[in-house]
Amino acid sequence: MSRVSSTKILEVLNVYKYFPIGFLGKKQVKAVDNVSIEVYEGETLALVGESGSGKTTLGRIIAGLIKPDRGVVRYRGRPVSGISRKIQMIFQNPDSSLDPRMQVFDIVAEALPQDVENRFEEVAKTLELVGLNPGHMAKYPHELSGGEKQRVAIARAIASRAEIFILDEPVSALDASIRAQILNLLIDLQRRYGYTYILIDHDLGRVWHMSDRVAIMYAGKIVEIGETERVFKQPKHPYTLMLLTSSTSEIPRPEKSIQPFGEPPSLIDPPSGCRFRTRCPLASDICSRQEPVLEAIEKGSSHYSACHFWKEL
Ligand code: ADP
Ligand code: MG
Repeated sequence: MSRVSSTKILEVLNVYKYFPIGFLGKKQVKAVDNVSIEVYEGETLALVGESGSGKTTLGRIIAGLIKPDRGVVRYRGRPVSGISRKIQMIFQNPDSSLDPRMQVFDIVAEALPQDVENRFEEVAKTLELVGLNPGHMAKYPHELSGGEKQRVAIARAIASRAEIFILDEPVSALDASIRAQILNLLIDLQRRYGYTYILIDHDLGRVWHMSDRVAIMYAGKIVEIGETERVFKQPKHPYTLMLLTSSTSEIPRPEKSIQPFGEPPSLIDPPSGCRFRTRCPLASDICSRQEPVLEAIEKGSSHYSACHFWKEL
């Protein structure tokens, strides 16, 4: 049973982020290039794609940590500008997000809304929710294990009353032995509090296990999006099929396969038309001339692909 509700909690509309680089910033890295997504309350939407495809940049835009050049992010129908307590990002490396000079108590207490009175009790309660105890309050980040640090980062997001968690490779930097513990904690918190997750993860096994829907990102654009089960079993974009083919995780295998080939293109000067065409076995003339847009594969379907030849998959 899918937990995807019909309440739209977040809407990303035609968002762009080009980073100026080089001499006088004349060149631009087109990190996020016209992305639109809708996110539903209580779901886990995974964001998948090779390194450098723009996932973290998109996550940071949604979390209000950077401003898009164009486009808008709406939370419950209202434009979000800047940082909102309701949308919190959990990073791959908690060392970069936890202030090393602050004790755990202060890290979590600082995130509580101003009007919370019993701050000590509230921090204790929040730490308990993430599997820590009052003994952790006086510790500094360097006294904690990687898993404990990630728990503190999650506690801080809970304390800030977040409803949307952007989980950017939340377990990739952790020892394999504790990854499942953190993932199970996240699953448990979502069941209890109805949190909405945007999960960025390169491991398709975790994506299969954790997500309701999945968005596939390639060179700054979403190329396929849909319910995880459908996208994994019947991918409608050749890039998705290539990712599935090259994954070593335990995931369902689609009937067809596309062997991985080539490297992601430059984001400074990406290919014309379809950006994937330089690696695509289906590519033909039209792909260099006309950029495919995301379209529902059937009328009313929630499964979208941006490929001229998806019917051939
Ligand atoms: P992903 O998370 O999918 O690996 P990122 O969003 O981190 O991708 O990066 C997308 C592209 O944007 C990469 O080419 C990266 O080098 C570039 N990029 C990210 N942040 C900056 C920045 N602050 N300045 C210049 N380029 C950046
Ligand atoms: Mg990243």
